[in-house]
Amino acid sequence: MLAPTRSRKRIGVVGAGPAGLAFAVSAAERGHDVTLFDAAEAVGGQLDIARRIPGKEEFDETLRYYRTRLAELAVTLRLGAAATAEQLAAEGFDELVLATGVTPRTPADIPGVDHPSVLGYLDVLRDGAPVGERVAILGAGGIGFDVAEFLTDRGDAASLNPPVFQAKWGIDPDYRERGGLRRPERPAPPRTVHLLQRKTGKVGAGLGKTTGWIHRTELKHRGVTMVAGATYDLIDDAGLHFTVDGERQLLPVDTVVLCTGQEPRRDLYDALRERGLEVHLIGGADVAAELDAKRAIKQGTELAATL
Ligand SMILES: Cc1cc2nc3c(=O)[nH]c(=O)nc-3n(C[C@H](O)[C@H](O)[C@H](O)COP(=O)(O)OP(=O)(O)OC[C@H]3O[C@@H](n4cnc5c(N)ncnc54)[C@H](O)[C@@H]3O)c2cc1C
Repeated sequence: MLAPTRSRKRIGVVGAGPAGLAFAVSAAERGHDVTLFDAAEAVGGQLDIARRIPGKEEFDETLRYYRTRLAELAVTLRLGAAATAEQLAAEGFDELVLATGVTPRTPADIPGVDHPSVLGYLDVLRDGAPVGERVAILGAGGIGFDVAEFLTDRGDAASLNPPVFQAKWGIDPDYRERGGLRRPERPAPPRTVHLLQRKTGKVGAGLGKTTGWIHRTELKHRGVTMVAGATYDLIDDAGLHFTVDGERQLLPVDTVVLCTGQEPRRDLYDALRERGLEVHLIGGADVAAELDAKRAIKQGTELAATL
């Protein structure tokens, strides 16, 4: 529990992802008057996207917690419009906190990256862009893995439904068969997916130590092929042309999804600094580190303790 403040301030927070949410709740708990802005219609930032990945439904509960606390603490919410430097300067807040997150990186050096078959992960996960039956995902970090799970999922909500989960992993809870195991029931995935990375070494090496093996196993069961050390040569009507170990290959895919990293989103930060305003930068807008809600929440909470 943070100590109550002795000098109540009016604080403007831009970005209602985990960093901005954690800051807003902690600052309001201390007694500050907080206004939270987000361009989206709902709070959550990237967690509002992550919760759509099969197996990550628990983020719904994280967001329910924050929505409840924002209401209890009477944080003013301004959703549905991007905050501008002019607007924030005119509001005359005592403190400004920017938790504006990240923007996906588009690798401009790949010939054909502007081909119509190329989508970003936000097009797929957030905007529901149509995706073909044969897919190449470029970038095998946490988001690349999540997109692969999303695109090969049958919609059976296995992580929420114990009988479905047990059937899928071959668990016999009644011990009718030896070792409590039975033949796994895995319906064929709706798409053929290839997951590629530029880095040499094991695909998925950067995933969490305790859960990485599960994601790799799940995708292998779904027939996802994994390619490391790829050089992306060209994307055209025929698909994705790439080279591994000096050998040129073609993947005849309908859709290429870019999961090729993120950049801190600092346009508003720069505009406010140009006006001579002091701002605090937290979360992905400070350091873009892909799957890092924990760091964003910690930084938001720690900043709230100091203002
Ligand atoms: C598919 C996916 C799965 C993920 N899975 C995990 C996971 O399992 N574990 C984990 O730890 N992390 C995960 N992450 C990453 C995690 O969501 C991010 O690390 C975290 O959301 C970063 O928090 P943030 O608050 O800094 O920014 P964000 O969550 O990006 O929020 C930034 C917000 O700022 C808003 N904004 C920007 N500019 C303006 C403006 N001018 N005016 C108003 N609003 C503005 C945006 O609309 C956005 O809502 C995942 C991300 C994705 C995309």
